[in-house]
Amino acid sequence: MSDDAEQLIDLDARPADASARRDRIRDWLIASGWAGDPLPADYADLPDALMFQFGPRALRDFPTFRYASLGLTGNNGIWMTDGEPEPPQCPTCGTENEEYWEQLEEWSTTGVEPVSTCESCGFTGPVGDWVIDNTPLGGSMGISISFASSEYAGEDVARTLLAELKDGLGGRWAYTHHHL
Ligand SMILES: [Zn+2]
Repeated sequence: MSDDAEQLIDLDARPADASARRDRIRDWLIASGWAGDPLPADYADLPDALMFQFGPRALRDFPTFRYASLGLTGNNGIWMTDGEPEPPQCPTCGTENEEYWEQLEEWSTTGVEPVSTCESCGFTGPVGDWVIDNTPLGGSMGISISFASSEYAGEDVARTLLAELKDGLGGRWAYTHHHL
């Protein structure tokens, strides 16, 4: 359907409560007007996704995206990024976390965000607190925004939604772009 996806990943979601989280996110998306009419589940080739058209809130700022879709999905536990995947970098000293690839495999299975310690400076934190601009992520729930329009400015849409999600729903979220 689309070649590009903006992905907002709910870092706090756990498989045990994924369906409850999904309901909360769905209710917020509908109440806020980001999600509009439902779309068929296979609209964007996302496994088990709840799909929606853009709602009135989204179209107010982004009126050309009438054919965009929002999907709520677990994405089979892996959220890919563009190009050559990079491991997380330490937010303090920039050192790459080479152990991450094993952690990612575990994350995609268990759904539990891994915690890492920097081998150079000792910074310790969950992956979402590292620099993850081009890092594939695990996670059991997220929002994938796809566009059927060639007038593509998805990052603005994603960053606007991200800010409103954090305000309205709370929690820790990560943002990645994926060119399929
Ligand atoms: Zn460090």
